[in-house]
Amino acid sequence: MPVAERILEVVDLTKQYGSRGSVTHALRGISMAVDRGEFVGVMGPSGSGKTTLLNVISTIDSPSSGRVWIGGRELTALRRREVARFRRERLGFIFQDFNLLDTLTLRENIGLALSIAGAPAGEIDRRVAEMAERLGIADALDKFPYQVSGGQKQRAAAARALITEPDLVLADEPTGNLDSRAARSLLEALAELNRDLQTTIILVTHDPVAASYCQRILFIKDGRIFGELVRGDSPRQRFFDRILAVLAELGGGEADVR
Ligand code: ADP
Ligand code: MG
Repeated sequence: MPVAERILEVVDLTKQYGSRGSVTHALRGISMAVDRGEFVGVMGPSGSGKTTLLNVISTIDSPSSGRVWIGGRELTALRRREVARFRRERLGFIFQDFNLLDTLTLRENIGLALSIAGAPAGEIDRRVAEMAERLGIADALDKFPYQVSGGQKQRAAAARALITEPDLVLADEPTGNLDSRAARSLLEALAELNRDLQTTIILVTHDPVAASYCQRILFIKDGRIFGELVRGDSPRQRFFDRILAVLAELGGGEADVR
């Protein structure tokens, strides 16, 4: 086995919202690390700090204290303009509500970052076609988002996130607006891309089915890491059962197990 390359390191992250009188402690000291090629899930009840954690890792939000390194660079040390560039070049995002541009075709949406980076048209075409093929949306490339299903939209969003070959893909509840079949096909595609291209993925979800596609899961509760599960050689169904057992222990079900 080659030596693992650390992609993400988070040390003692805290985040408070509000001010004196009404402070919300969204993160209360989170430390975690992710190596290149990992597919890591982050699970926890609603309000536990999952989105805050992802937003701080992705430079969308800044921490109250603590430090974050991605690919050996410390984010909190970057200047504002460097942050925007870093985010564009090194990170990929998949959101619950797709965030595709309505006036562009799927092809244009997927290729946009490469166009902005000034890649030659022929290379963009080739890479978009290859990524679309992997995600099973090759025949929908010339459609607009309103002409395709939610599942196809999200697979286009995944293609857009991955096409720049980012160091880290961050997905916040990407199956939240999908039916279970569309969710499975997205998750299978992500797991395959993770395996074939060694794409590093962090998937935030409260859905144990979605989490069961990951190789490792961090559970958070009240802004702290509560536990960790490593899939190892477990078949997905067995891993799913282990996830349910941890969720039961986590408590505060809040209809989070769907
Ligand atoms: P999750 O994604 O696990 O549901 P969040 O990270 O969205 O949790 O929220 C964690 C806590 O921080 C919650 O109590 C939430 O109400 C609070 N919170 C999140 N964003 C803000 C904000 N912008 N302003 C104030 N409180 C917030
Ligand atoms: Mg959230």
